[in-house]
Amino acid sequence: MVCKKCFDEGKNSEGQKRRLTEYFFALRRRAQENAIVSENGKVRGTWRNRLDLEKEVKRLLNGFKESIGTSEMKRTIHEMTNIVSTPAWQKSTFWLQENMANQCQKCQQKFNLVRSKHNCKLCGRAVCKSCSFKDIILYLPDDEDTKEPRLAVIKVIGSPSVEPELALYVRVCESCLERLKNRQLEMLEKEEKMLAKGGDSLEMLLKVHSTMYRNEVKMEDQLNEYQIIIESLEDNSRKLNSSGKSNIQTVAKAQEDLADYLAQYVLNIQRMKKLTPESNTQAILFRNCLKGKCDFYFDNQFRFKSLQKTLGDSTPPKILECIQRTVDKHAIVSTQLYIRQLTYETLHICDKYKLRDNIPQKLTLTDEFVEKETLDCIEQDGDDIEDHSEQLQELLQSQLKDHRLIKLSKRTLKCSGSHHAADMLITRSTDILHQVKVQLMMKSANRSFPQTKQTLDQTLEELKTVTLQDIVKL
Ligand SMILES: [Zn+2]
Ligand SMILES: [Zn+2]
Ligand SMILES: [Zn+2]
Repeated sequence: MVCKKCFDEGKNSEGQKRRLTEYFFALRRRAQENAIVSENGKVRGTWRNRLDLEKEVKRLLNGFKESIGTSEMKRTIHEMTNIVSTPAWQKSTFWLQENMANQCQKCQQKFNLVRSKHNCKLCGRAVCKSCSFKDIILYLPDDEDTKEPRLAVIKVIGSPSVEPELALYVRVCESCLERLKNRQLEMLEKEEKMLAKGGDSLEMLLKVHSTMYRNEVKMEDQLNEYQIIIESLEDNSRKLNSSGKSNIQTVAKAQEDLADYLAQYVLNIQRMKKLTPESNTQAILFRNCLKGKCDFYFDNQFRFKSLQKTLGDSTPPKILECIQRTVDKHAIVSTQLYIRQLTYETLHICDKYKLRDNIPQKLTLTDEFVEKETLDCIEQDGDDIEDHSEQLQELLQSQLKDHRLIKLSKRTLKCSGSHHAADMLITRSTDILHQVKVQLMMKSANRSFPQTKQTLDQTLEELKTVTLQDIVKL
């Protein structure tokens, strides 16, 4: 309905009508937003504040899961979303109400050809491009067997460090981005706490158990492969000779991988031992589980040793030494890389959070011993020391960029400040030193790198005595 004046003016009536409609929607929106619903005497926020974050996240994850069921490839998903309009699963409960807006719900500027309308895939709010971010990925974790999709805010701690093969980027508004960031940090914190405390023991047991199961499959495959390599060397009487450098490399690589799997397995057994059962039934379960894992370890270690013996019987000692030297070299180089990286990271953290630097000091000393034996080993093997240093530097830079050993939770930092940094400094340094030590012991020959092994032990002992009070400056 229009008034007589507008009717008489003809063409303009269209515009007038539109303005009226807009005004009406704006009024209704404001009314909806300001509606404070009182339930059971409690005052509750607007409907937007009542948006159920977990429910909306679940909607996205379920939708993503179904959509990858139909097209397995990431590219296809991208193309699909470009051509077809927003699929139903990407629309929130409030999509319809929100979608009526003709101005950005954040900066209030009108949508037009230049400022196009985007809907937040979480809350549905209509926002312009600069008020929204395509920073959320729905993805399947590459490194896990689970087919359960996840949601992560990219560039925030807790998101995958490399883009997963199967990932879909979705756009959300600024406030949803903040809420999702907080959610991610909270989840990370929970996980950290659980790891530190032993948390829900049964859940942890299952977690370690499934990691070990994957490890077992890999170990058995690798043992079979190792056996095939050794048998083929015997059968074809292509016995290892000094000119068969590639054979030596193949055997060394297989041995290294096996030692790696065994080391990881030992670390997981130790992790399992630390869990405290919460009931008698759990205690029995834990004990049986641990026994099974120990049996598996000894069986496979035995098989590994027997295969090594078979190889030893048919191979001249000189060649065997050559193989062991290759394995040793790789083991000490990776030790050096980790120790150096840990030293850098701890130094950086002490500097940033104004902590006393006794841990990096200890690590620097350790690093010196490791470096000496590493360089000796490289020289003996006839490799160029400068090349090695360059490679180390490169590796170190990429590690520091993408694979930090110590990750701090920003949220915990906010509330517990430098205490969190100090806490992580001690626990992570100890964990990593221990891992490095176990791997070096498993890979290298018993007599190799005595000084490194000794300093690693010593530093670990020293770290046990470091307390929070020692490193937090008052
Ligand atoms: Zn009028
Ligand atoms: Zn805007
Ligand atoms: Zn939103």
